[in-house]
Parts: sequence; structure tokens; C-alpha cells
Amino acid sequence: MLKKGIILVLTLLMLLLIPVSVFAQFKLILNFDDGYWGVYENAFPLLQKAGIPAVVFMPTNLIGKEKHLTLKQLIQLKKEGWEIGSHTVNHPNLAELTTEGLKYEIINSKLYLQEKGLIDGSYASFCSPMTVWNNQIKEIVRANYRVARAKRLFVFDKEVQVEALLKVILKTTRITVIQKWIEEAIRLDQPLILIFHEVAGGGNEYYFPPEKFAQLIPLIKKYDIVTLQHLLTEKEK
Ligand SMILES: [Zn+2]
Repeated sequence: MLKKGIILVLTLLMLLLIPVSVFAQFKLILNFDDGYWGVYENAFPLLQKAGIPAVVFMPTNLIGKEKHLTLKQLIQLKKEGWEIGSHTVNHPNLAELTTEGLKYEIINSKLYLQEKGLIDGSYASFCSPMTVWNNQIKEIVRANYRVARAKRLFVFDKEVQVEALLKVILKTTRITVIQKWIEEAIRLDQPLILIFHEVAGGGNEYYFPPEKFAQLIPLIKKYDIVTLQHLLTEKEK
């Protein structure tokens, strides 16, 4: 009787694990947080030429503001197969907000992107500023989005916390280091999310030089590079 119970539990566990293992395959995903101007000016032409899509996480209140993407640019990126995700309205520290403030930042940003045709009806992705995350944030995000990125990647419709490698790219990040991350993700058979901010010369540590970005393209274009939404549709096959 006990043995039967153990077999049943093991079978159930295996069934639970199957979708996760199907989902957790090596893919490369490029994220551009905060929607800086150089993403359109410097990164997009190179990616477009190589046929590579990417994801922009945009604080909606910064659209069209100094050094940030305009609505027109975002619409073009979306047309070219890019995913535009929410990065709140004002890019605040979500841990410091009231419930009302949280709902405003998380829900209104989605409504705005929807209204402008930048996200598709049933699918939306969210990225928490500064990777701030707690249970209250999670519940509101879960009710409004299917995928979220904080310190980890979440896929809410299947309650899966996806094993993925998330790596932030800084000005000083070497191409050889990115290559090592790719090799690690291939070995683990997990998605690798490369998180960029601005792609431009000068600036602070989050400005990745365009020359270095150009060097990266031949290295990554041989891999399966997708958006977060594509990762989800792959899983559902
Ligand atoms: Zn940000």
C-alpha cells in the first residue's frame, strides 16, 4: 500500500516536472530595460539586419521624454517583431508604495501599452524596477501579466518559476564573459536573458558601447534568439 502511494506520488511529480523541462531549454533573450534612445539608434539597426528580435521594458511615463524612446519608435519596434513589456509607469521602488500606488504603477502601465497597441490582448510581460519583489507585488502582477522578470523569471499561467540565467550587461562587461554565460546556459539547457540598458557611447556604467554591441552580433546570431512571449508559446506546443 505504501509502495503504491510512493509510486503515485512519484508519477505525479514527474507529470508536474515535464512542462518545466520542456520550457527550460536553451534560448537567448535580449532585454533592454528603461527604453533608452540608443536602443533604437544603435542596437536596433544591427539587430534588424541580423533578423534578431528583442524585448524592451518601458516605463510608460518616460515614453518620448529626453533620452528615451518615442511612441513612434516603440510602434516600429513592435512591428519588427519586438516585444514591448511594462516596466511600471514611473519606475519607482515598488516596495515603498501603498497598495493603491502599486496597482497604479502595475496596472496603468499595462493599460497604456494596450491602448497604444504595443501589447497583444491576452499576453503581457512585466519587469520590476531594481528587481524589487514581494508577495503583494507578485499577486498584483500575477493578476495582470503572464510573464514577469524580477531577480528571477516567472510564468504565471502554469505557476512555474522558470530556471533561467539572468545576466546584467554593464559597460565593462567583456564579450568573452558573455560567451562564457552562453556556454553555461547551453550546458544547463536553460534560457539566458541578457539585460542591457542603454547602447551608446559615454554615460554611466549602464551604457554599453555600440562597437562592443556590433562585435556581439556575429557571436549570438547563430543561436535561437526569441522574445519572452515566444518562450511561452514554445512551452504550449
Ligand atoms: Zn529599470
